[in-house]
Amino acid sequence: MVKKAGFLKYSRINPTKLVPEVRIQNFGEFDSKLSESIIKEQTRRCMDCGVPFCHGFGCPLGNRIPDFNEKIRLGLWDQALDILHSTNNFPEFTGKVCPALCETSCTLSINSDPVIIKQIEFQLSEYGWENDLIKPIIASSKTGKKIAVIGSGPAGLAASQQLARNGHDVTVFEKNDRIGGLLRYGIPDYKLDKSRIDRRITQIENEGVIFETMVEVGVDISVRYLKRSFDAILVATGATSPRDLMIPGRELSGIHFAMDYLIQQNKINAGDQIDNTDLINAKGKNVVVIGGGDTGADCVGTAIRQGAKKVTQIELLPKPSPERTINEPWPTYPKIFRTSTSHEEGCKRIWSIMTNKFSGSDGKLKKMFCKKLNWDSKIENYQELPNSNFELDVDLILLSMGFINDKKEKLLIDLQKNSSMFDPKVVICGDINTGPSLVVHAINEGRNAAKEIDEYLIK
Ligand SMILES: Cc1cc2nc3c(=O)[nH]c(=O)nc-3n(C[C@H](O)[C@H](O)[C@H](O)COP(=O)(O)OP(=O)(O)OC[C@H]3O[C@@H](n4cnc5c(N)ncnc54)[C@H](O)[C@@H]3O)c2cc1C
Repeated sequence: MVKKAGFLKYSRINPTKLVPEVRIQNFGEFDSKLSESIIKEQTRRCMDCGVPFCHGFGCPLGNRIPDFNEKIRLGLWDQALDILHSTNNFPEFTGKVCPALCETSCTLSINSDPVIIKQIEFQLSEYGWENDLIKPIIASSKTGKKIAVIGSGPAGLAASQQLARNGHDVTVFEKNDRIGGLLRYGIPDYKLDKSRIDRRITQIENEGVIFETMVEVGVDISVRYLKRSFDAILVATGATSPRDLMIPGRELSGIHFAMDYLIQQNKINAGDQIDNTDLINAKGKNVVVIGGGDTGADCVGTAIRQGAKKVTQIELLPKPSPERTINEPWPTYPKIFRTSTSHEEGCKRIWSIMTNKFSGSDGKLKKMFCKKLNWDSKIENYQELPNSNFELDVDLILLSMGFINDKKEKLLIDLQKNSSMFDPKVVICGDINTGPSLVVHAINEGRNAAKEIDEYLIK
């Protein structure tokens, strides 16, 4: 059993990070690993609760956190890794980028620091890679069933891995030039080094999955062809249609969607050349990120690394509470004020701001005009504060106001339309199903979709 009083003896130890002045010099990851002995010690803080909320409530994947903590404590890292992989295909992705829903539901977090679950998960997975424990798992027999997966983000990848391991023939169609969805073209490299995706892709390929990049279903191949050729189709196309801000001056040059900006930097880091006329670069510029969420924070970190003169992030909603409110008690994941590593790197943040207009000269953005808002206490309504108009000098605006997931999009309708008695099973999963979410939810969606398809095909 886990030594249950370890939390009395050991305090939480966080991994160290390079200081902002150093880490902004490049796009590399900047947090260090803890030593194996410290990780072992940290697992002793786990109380092995009778009802482990981290496992049953916090983690969407149901990761068996007290179980792998106990194995690590006993030095049985390979067994701990098997436990982790039994619920999570890609623990190094979640170990790097998950907001750690598990930690906010750790019982210790009620009145102390939670167990450092996310770092334990990451280092356990790394232990597996470093010690050659992570190998392809080849199905012992084949079913002869063919499955098309549309989209290679975490949902599509988790589903294809599960399906291939169950003996099905899986082909993943990806419209982009590289595999990975938003893991590859969205999340900045300083949060997730792309070599972590590459080695998983190699594992999945060796398990028999075929990846076809630069194939947009509905454009390069027809829905009719897919329906004729496959026994089941999994739609994991994500939700990346950006919300726009249609105000006067929107047409000026220098106003871009966050994703166009972030994808470019991911591509440059991967060695691609971007045509100068298309390049969006923050160097020496006054940058304003409109939208106070995580994608906005990624724009902040990217602009700072590119050498922006000044970065400001503005948000329509009010500043969140610093602590849990009565409506979001433990063990929920609360919407509280958070400072990301990008914010630590030097950015001004302003809340309760409405943007009314952009202006410029010679077609180029120069200024934006805003107003302060007064929200009612339930954040249901706002009023514009009188005499609160202000303007900002700005050369580059990055629009980061969330994404629209359109379940009525043509591809989905065509796929779900019955056309003949031979219609294959169609399942949708990931962000296209749930709306914009998290990597951990996408992996979970992919695993559940794979189960549904598997049960249908082997019935
Ligand atoms: C900038 C940014 C940063 C984020 N950071 C984090 C984070 O730090 N932590 C976290 O947990 N979550 C984060 N998220 C959210 C997370 O990345 C998503 O929830 C997750 O990637 C969704 O996975 P998915 O597989 O459903 O879709 P996606 O990852 O969007 O993948 C969908 C794939 O489908 C492909 N596709 C679409 N249509 C077609 C078609 N017709 N034919 C072929 N291919 C097609 C797309 O090209 C894409 O590759 C972030 C999101 C963004 C935008």
